[in-house]
Amino acid sequence: MKVAFLGLGQMGEPMAQNLLRAGHEVTAWNRTTAKAEGLKSQGAKVAHSPREAAQNSELAITMLADDNAVRAAVLHEQGLAEGLPKGALHVSMSTISVALSRELAQEHTKRGQLYMTAPVFGRPDAAAAGKLFIAAAGEKSLVDRAMPVLDTIGQRVFVMGDKPEMANVVKLSGNFLIAAVIESLGEAIALARKYGIDPHRYVEFLTSSLFAAPVYKTYGGLIANQNHHPAGFPMRLGLKDVRLALAAAEAMDAPLPIASLIRDHMLTAISRGMEELDWSATAKLAAENAGLR
Ligand code: NAP
Repeated sequence: MKVAFLGLGQMGEPMAQNLLRAGHEVTAWNRTTAKAEGLKSQGAKVAHSPREAAQNSELAITMLADDNAVRAAVLHEQGLAEGLPKGALHVSMSTISVALSRELAQEHTKRGQLYMTAPVFGRPDAAAAGKLFIAAAGEKSLVDRAMPVLDTIGQRVFVMGDKPEMANVVKLSGNFLIAAVIESLGEAIALARKYGIDPHRYVEFLTSSLFAAPVYKTYGGLIANQNHHPAGFPMRLGLKDVRLALAAAEAMDAPLPIASLIRDHMLTAISRGMEELDWSATAKLAAENAGLR
């Protein structure tokens, strides 16, 4: 399939590489062009604007940092929406707000273009291995059309509903849950350490008994090793997602008191210079608050 790929960050680059390996015709765009040039040797064409990337494509993927980045790449005069042919499909895979996702759906409809969402779960290593979990939403015919591409990027695609913003809600509420696991693991491990319990032994016990889930294994390991750099998912993006979950919740009068607390802990972490550390570094706060080094 002719695919335009916008955004070659930690996640986007390996996703685009997997599409190239699977034989898709990829035209890549990235704000910092050098990253797109790096994909040329693997068969990608390089575009100098999102508009240019989208021209002639059947399907365009955005995998950009946040709402500002997606707005700039899609709705700008050199943006994706100006270049995407009528009847072609924008698959929005970044973690963005429910409000922007609704706006994108309207903007594409106005232009005779199609829109669905497919945000992902999994970190850069899972993206490289094609092992992401994908929550997809949109009209069934569009999800079916995108499936060969999504199957290349992810190990499993879960269709969450026919309204595009439904998958954005799944992604935001899912990241809220991960943030809550990091927060509670950080506090529990700090408590165990105060009593002289080895944190690695403690995490091994948890993840071999009642908490044998990937999220506890991944973050338990990072916290026990105090391994927050380089960041697979930096604190600034984690804070963005907790804020977006709070905004989605506020719009529906659905309180998320734990998310409010986590937002404040992330702000504290950032004020202490942890913005570029992995979001698991909120566990450092729990340790510091308990008087641990
Ligand atoms: P990243 O490594 O920080 O890459 C961000 C991408 O967005 C880069 O291509 C960057 O371009 C571009 N960008 C940033 N601001 C921009 C702007 N104003 N205009 C145009 N482009 C802009 O982020 P990532 O980890 O790949 O994450 C991408 C998306 O996936 C985010 O929504 C994130 O929340 C989500 N996500 C991440 C993970 C993870 O573990 N990392 C997991 C699941 C979902 P430059 O190269 O020019 O800076």
